[in-house]
Amino acid sequence: MDFLPIFLNLRQRPCAVIGGGEVASRKITLLLAAGARVTVYSPALGETLQRWREEGKIAYVAQEFRPEMLEGCELVIAATDDVAVNRRVSEAARARGIPVNVVDQPELCTFIMPSIIDRSPVTIAVSTGGRSPVLARLIRARLESLIPAGYGGLAKLVTAFRDKVKQTFKHPPLRRRFWEEVLQGRIAELVYSGQDQAAAKALQERIDSVDGNKTPVGEVYLVGGGPGDPDLLTFRALRLMQEADVVVYDRLVSPAVLELVRRDAERIYAGKERDNHAIPQEDINHLLVRLAKEGKRVVRLKGGDPFIFGRGGEEIDTLAAEGIPFQVVPGITAAAGCAAYAGIPLTHRDYAQSVVFVTGHLQDGTVNLNWKALVQPDQTVVFYMGLHGIETICRELIGHGMPPTTLAALVQQGTTRNQRVLTADLATLPGIVEKAQVKAPTLIIVGDVVQLHERLRWFEPTAAN
Ligand code: SAH
Repeated sequence: MDFLPIFLNLRQRPCAVIGGGEVASRKITLLLAAGARVTVYSPALGETLQRWREEGKIAYVAQEFRPEMLEGCELVIAATDDVAVNRRVSEAARARGIPVNVVDQPELCTFIMPSIIDRSPVTIAVSTGGRSPVLARLIRARLESLIPAGYGGLAKLVTAFRDKVKQTFKHPPLRRRFWEEVLQGRIAELVYSGQDQAAAKALQERIDSVDGNKTPVGEVYLVGGGPGDPDLLTFRALRLMQEADVVVYDRLVSPAVLELVRRDAERIYAGKERDNHAIPQEDINHLLVRLAKEGKRVVRLKGGDPFIFGRGGEEIDTLAAEGIPFQVVPGITAAAGCAAYAGIPLTHRDYAQSVVFVTGHLQDGTVNLNWKALVQPDQTVVFYMGLHGIETICRELIGHGMPPTTLAALVQQGTTRNQRVLTADLATLPGIVEKAQVKAPTLIIVGDVVQLHERLRWFEPTAAN
């Protein structure tokens, strides 16, 4: 972060603006909106500022800039078209420890002005650190269209009812949930359509009708976090992650995805490294039950899809037995994500009419798979958790009649900026794993479709993206 966003209270505080033209007037509009007392220093005044001066909105001193003018001010803006003057303003302000902004000269600023979405008292500030004001404006335009104009009214409603709701709901998580419901439901819609009184009445009725001290039953959301790229989350996954009280996550969940969980949510790491489960599966199942019984909204966040080699079934089985409400949110499974980002279609009219997802995890050193079923013509086979047993896998496939020249791809950390794709044939694949130091998580795709990778590859991750 190049700049720390803060919100300044300038109400009735003295601010100086050096420069009297149109640019100055645009900045002054913002200062006045924040209630500042603005004095303009400039030998001459433009039309707008002249008018504001006559209307008593601003004070005016018709003089060239002198450093003493800044004494006692709390904020300075330099908006002259004279670079030398701007520089002197900046130096004088800095010497006095006063925050200074010089229009269009970021190197002279100690603070920059963001793009502002004003839904007072809700205020959103967007900054690109001075790098691209155009980008900041585009972001602002998007947010403007996303955030209903009545949002400010919503904040006022909250203020009016805050104490009442606090008395009714003594338990903070219950209180938060109540507000979330109110702010997203019918009452919010009333505010947006300008029916403030009806909204207040409806809110009062809601408060009167609830028993605020009853611990509600929590809920568990079994959420697929996808293969790594956070852009691949579903809307529902994101929304539930934003509402969670606690998130229980696996090692496979990428840091970029975890980053999107509500900041205040408790995070519990449940592990699941090969042969090194941080929490045994049974304990995870019971942990989820316990958290839900405490009234929490629990997100059980898994890599990929929860129902594909994710033990999702076992976890919700315990929930079902205990009568805990739950939802399952599908995610993009590693096979779909890795195949797409490696440019390897899993089926293709010319090469594969079926695709099989199979676990390559070795139980007691052997892979108990139906090898015959895997060795079929025109079929793609995708191995999850196959890295450790790669030698056995290739040997058995060849042993059961698959040509040793069959192509295979290793996709390591697919869809992330660390994605690596290596291709070989069945005979040489195990050697490649060793030589290229391939690490988990890696997916193995076997079949003729792998030849398409050379032509259809499109995702070239660099450390920067
Ligand atoms: N439920 C998950 C799979 C869990 S099994 C899903 O639907 O994707 C764990 C295996 O998934 C890993 O051993 C690896 O083979 C594969 N995997 C998961 N994420 C991956 C990724 N980003 N890149 C490559 N393989 C991945």
